[in-house]
Amino acid sequence: LRPFVIARGTTNEFANLVVRVDLEGEAGYGEAAPSGKLTGESLREAATEILKWQQKPATAARALEDAEHVAGGHLRPAARSALVVAYLDALGHRRGRSLRALLNLPEGRIESSITLSLGPTAAVLAEAAARDAEGWRVFKVKLGGAYDEEVLRALRDQYPDRRIRVDANEAWTPDVAAQRLTLLERLEVELVEQPLPRDLLDETAELARRFDIPVIVDEALYDSGDALSLIERDVADGANIKLAKCGGPWEARRIVKVLRDHGWRVMMGCNLESGLGIAAAAAFAGALDYADLDAHVLLADQPFVGFSTPGGVVEAPEGPGVGVRPNPTLLLEPLQR
Ligand SMILES: [Mg+2]
Repeated sequence: LRPFVIARGTTNEFANLVVRVDLEGEAGYGEAAPSGKLTGESLREAATEILKWQQKPATAARALEDAEHVAGGHLRPAARSALVVAYLDALGHRRGRSLRALLNLPEGRIESSITLSLGPTAAVLAEAAARDAEGWRVFKVKLGGAYDEEVLRALRDQYPDRRIRVDANEAWTPDVAAQRLTLLERLEVELVEQPLPRDLLDETAELARRFDIPVIVDEALYDSGDALSLIERDVADGANIKLAKCGGPWEARRIVKVLRDHGWRVMMGCNLESGLGIAAAAAFAGALDYADLDAHVLLADQPFVGFSTPGGVVEAPEGPGVGVRPNPTLLLEPLQR
């Protein structure tokens, strides 16, 4: 992993959990990307919950039912999402259908942003140049540090026509946010994610009213219930959905519908996860206004193969299932019980 820096901290490596479901000879995989600060579960807790989840041997006839049972259950969101995706992946392999088709989502493709780590201007520009050379055309800048203004101005100077998005990860106070959003509008930034701490809903609503730039909530929204109450309070213009936050693709589909029904913009993002988790989220490519599905490219080694984003374009995989398989040259570490 390249060091990944946001307002909450720096990451050099991460460990996620891969769940495997065996369905009459077909294996299905799902990835749990728990993030204590976001999903309220540690890797160990996610593993314990998944292992405790008792059930009869999986059969193709019951796979959908089992997946629904998990989806409606009490596992915390990242663990739940991994299990649901694993069932649907196995079922997709049995039936020769993609996750997208099983979920009845539209076909489609969308340009994803590539996230540039928080850092001093020279470092951000160097990362932008490297990603530009790889074909990425939409930048998402992590702000909330000492260099915010300088970084943004330099990036805009360097890339006058580029779509640039900003994510503050809750770092600003209302006063700082108002200053920053004024600058973001001047620099024609496309959107701003979670400018304020998640519990400052009135203040976030005030920013969304005052400024034209779309305000997208991320940390403030987990599931469709949150979506409804945020919409009711007119808090923002759109929301960033993540499978690990909401508990899996069915709930994600429900959130998409709630947002669409109320004219909110739909973004799909990710935690730090491999091609397995990103490919599952990519099933939604045809249903999105914005995609931020880039974590797999941060990895030095790919534990799953079959999914890529050439030129930064995310396309809903054709399947079967999620559309990826374990990398045979890279062994997954079995969990120590
Ligand atoms: Mg975000």
